[in-house]
Amino acid sequence: MALNKKYIILKDDDAGVDLEKLKKWVDIVVKNDAKGSIGVIGKHLNDKKLQVFLNSLDQNTIEIFCHGYYHTHSPYYLNKIIRRNLPKTEFNKDKKNHGLSLKKYREDERKYLNSSTVSFGPQGNIWNENIIDPLLQNSFKLMFSWENVGGGIHTIPLSSNFRQNSLEEFIKSYERKKDDLIYTLQFHHAKLTDKKFKLMEEVIDFLKNKEKRIFVTPSELLEISKNDKEIYSLMIGKND
Ligand SMILES: [Zn+2]
Repeated sequence: MALNKKYIILKDDDAGVDLEKLKKWVDIVVKNDAKGSIGVIGKHLNDKKLQVFLNSLDQNTIEIFCHGYYHTHSPYYLNKIIRRNLPKTEFNKDKKNHGLSLKKYREDERKYLNSSTVSFGPQGNIWNENIIDPLLQNSFKLMFSWENVGGGIHTIPLSSNFRQNSLEEFIKSYERKKDDLIYTLQFHHAKLTDKKFKLMEEVIDFLKNKEKRIFVTPSELLEISKNDKEIYSLMIGKND
């Protein structure tokens, strides 16, 4: 039996906060023949420099996803204070509020960007099920999540956060999910130091050359799932 292909998505959040570091993150991905996906915060889309940069990207290499419009931070800090994962209902927006921010994102996207995304990555990766209908109504197909989304939205399963301090440390954390066919590694470019950017290169090299993982964008993974039952089963909800 042929060995299953193993994929990897590099996910970077909070585009709009620190353009210089965003550029650096993208440079490293491109320079190392990898691929990635960057989450844009909608309220920053009126920034001319950000527009120029985002419109210069090859979407087959660096794909944009929607990281909300306002990017409220409170659940994230609350999460830190109580030091455990909040139940998803803590992000207690109703359908109307979810709908309004996704609609605003789409409006600004149409106004300022020359591409249109199919993917959504919730702020702080915290969400509730009220998000599903508004996502469908606003033509989203994919969502990054630690747990299956369902309801007709395909999940890109999250695997790990890039917070290690050495390659050895990274490999140790990676070992637990080594056999997962989809591995999604999450970054926050604005928080990366020069040392961490260097480590990021080592990690890419390890995943590409030692692990032979195939770098994909969210859209590519969606396409792959149409012809690969195992990948499909990882992305679809149990009741879909
Ligand atoms: Zn964020």
